[in-house]
Amino acid sequence: MHYADSVADLVGSTPLVRLRRVTEGIDATVLAKVEYLNPGASSKDRIARTIIDAAEREGRLRPGGVIVEPTSGNTGVGLALIAQQRGYRTVFVVPDKVGADRRAILTAYGAEVVVTPAAVAKEDPRSYYSVADRLTREIPGAFQPNQFVNQGGPLAHFQTTGPEIWRDTDGTVTHLVAGIGTGGTITGAGRFLKEASEGRVQVIGADPEGSVYSADPSDPDQVHANLVEGVGLTFFPETFDPVIVDAFHRVHDAESFAMTRRLAREEGLLVGGSSGMTVVAALRAARELPAEAVVVAVLPDHGRGYLGKIFADDWMREHGFDVEEQTSLVPEEVR
Ligand code: PMP
Repeated sequence: MHYADSVADLVGSTPLVRLRRVTEGIDATVLAKVEYLNPGASSKDRIARTIIDAAEREGRLRPGGVIVEPTSGNTGVGLALIAQQRGYRTVFVVPDKVGADRRAILTAYGAEVVVTPAAVAKEDPRSYYSVADRLTREIPGAFQPNQFVNQGGPLAHFQTTGPEIWRDTDGTVTHLVAGIGTGGTITGAGRFLKEASEGRVQVIGADPEGSVYSADPSDPDQVHANLVEGVGLTFFPETFDPVIVDAFHRVHDAESFAMTRRLAREEGLLVGGSSGMTVVAALRAARELPAEAVVVAVLPDHGRGYLGKIFADDWMREHGFDVEEQTSLVPEEVR
């Protein structure tokens, strides 16, 4: 018999797939690492498992404990599914830019969800960080993983994502492209790949317009809110090591969303907006590279949580984004 003992054992070992159509005119090989094939449908399952294991070992999480975390959704799903397997309850604080579909996923896993305004500073008592801190102080037995500080995040990617990419490309990978939320993916996987390749692998950060990571420090107007979920911060978290990143590509929300829709229609990959953003950056880099280059883009999550946003024509138009025209094959009287 061949089976996993728990969904926690299904985390990681996600496949690489070559992008075939959006890469037209590009000689280099561009591979997508499909993180939605984790059991909670995102790369965040990896950090949830590593962080909960460590908290149990260190005695910060005890039987009957409660996990409280500010999360844009995916970390919550990862934490919820591992927590429920181990008998912990979960409370998640999410900014209101996160869609209702995504919040419903968290409650479906049995978590409690608290919604807070996205458009306030981190220090504001209403911010999702502040509210999570208050709940952690007030709920007995509460443990806050704090994904923006917890070094289990980069460690999980150093121990799993990086080695998987190295193994599955037989060590031929030349470029890693990833978006940056906590920075765990790019820092952990990037560090592993740089070490394994003795510095040969180039690490490229995909960053939305508005994010602090790729902003000109002398121009505060370059840091502002954006619509791509999971990436684009207005502060530098401790889980990001800027030394690992060799170059940034700044991607406009419109380009990110257009590519996200193309990935579903042309590559059969129903993924989230940060995946579209990462592919835009990967293609920009790949366009300048020779045929021998092997570019790996990490696609962090599934598109199911964005059906009412990126994949909804009305939402796209309301937010000023173009929607591709499609002619119908169905006769008018049937539509
Ligand atoms: N995309 C999505 C949809 C995410 O949820 C996250 C994690 N917040 C990221 C990208 C970025 O990953 P990381 O936190 O490892 O930088």
